[in-house]
Amino acid sequence: MFLSEVPKSLLLAFAIPLGLVFGSFLNVVIYRLPRGENIAYPGSACPGCGAPIPAYHNIPVLSWLVLRGKASCCGARIGARYPLVELLGGLAAFAIVEAVLPRLADDTSVLLGVLVFALHLALSLGLIAAAFIDLEHLFLPDEITLGGAALGLLSTWPRDDVSWTDSLLGAAIGFAIIWVPFDLVYRRLRGRPGMGLGDAKLLLLAGAWFGWPGALFVLFAGATQGTLVTLALLVSQGQLKEPPALAEQREELQRAIDEAEGEEREALLREQAADPLAQEAEAGLGQARIAFGPFLVLACLEYQLFGPWITSTYHAWMMGL
Ligand SMILES: [Zn+2]
Repeated sequence: MFLSEVPKSLLLAFAIPLGLVFGSFLNVVIYRLPRGENIAYPGSACPGCGAPIPAYHNIPVLSWLVLRGKASCCGARIGARYPLVELLGGLAAFAIVEAVLPRLADDTSVLLGVLVFALHLALSLGLIAAAFIDLEHLFLPDEITLGGAALGLLSTWPRDDVSWTDSLLGAAIGFAIIWVPFDLVYRRLRGRPGMGLGDAKLLLLAGAWFGWPGALFVLFAGATQGTLVTLALLVSQGQLKEPPALAEQREELQRAIDEAEGEEREALLREQAADPLAQEAEAGLGQARIAFGPFLVLACLEYQLFGPWITSTYHAWMMGL
């Protein structure tokens, strides 16, 4: 049986609930991955008191609405981020069925179609998690950037939208366009990296999935979107604030240093000196700490869903010049 023979309503009826449930799991990833905790075990726990969440209170979006954003165990407030991430999971699944699967050839088998859907859903979910982690902690976990890049390199055959060599070339170019100018040059000039290596690894992922044109789009669209949002924040707030989690991490490290003695203290002091985020942000725009990852992620998702349209529009525009 061919994928093109399955009614779209049936595909959506399976895909959207699946996306919502994985979105719920994504909340666990966003909380635990940057804290170095096990993602798979134990199951969902209350962020307020740590009590396990029973399945009937863990229904995506609905539970949050029914419980009015409060944990059933201890009444702790559950932020709107939780249902938002769940919704994004469902939306990603919907968008993949609508925008990515129709690109497959008419004689694609159902099995291959399901595989392509799963690969793209894994990409979308990983990117969404990376964006929220970067917003809160100002870093992109290797598990997502490098893991996602490996998935892109290994999945060129089922995806059938980029050749293996283009994927490899795209990954190399994607990494180099951020690493060379920003890490090598900028660090030499100013003594600190302008963008983290995490951003370069995210471009490596983009190149592995979409080839070098996709990596270039992600860089330019990400930079444009990032600049616009940063300007909007500057105009509306008058300044750029760093995420509150950073100040907490700094205080935690300082407390650990104050309590430690001898070699342990030396090691912690070295860690503090090596990490630019462990120091208080300096005043001034050039030193502002902005997460660039979420904007690169947004551009990645745009290219994932609308890549063929973006490239054909670009070519038509170039021909017109
Ligand atoms: Zn609780």
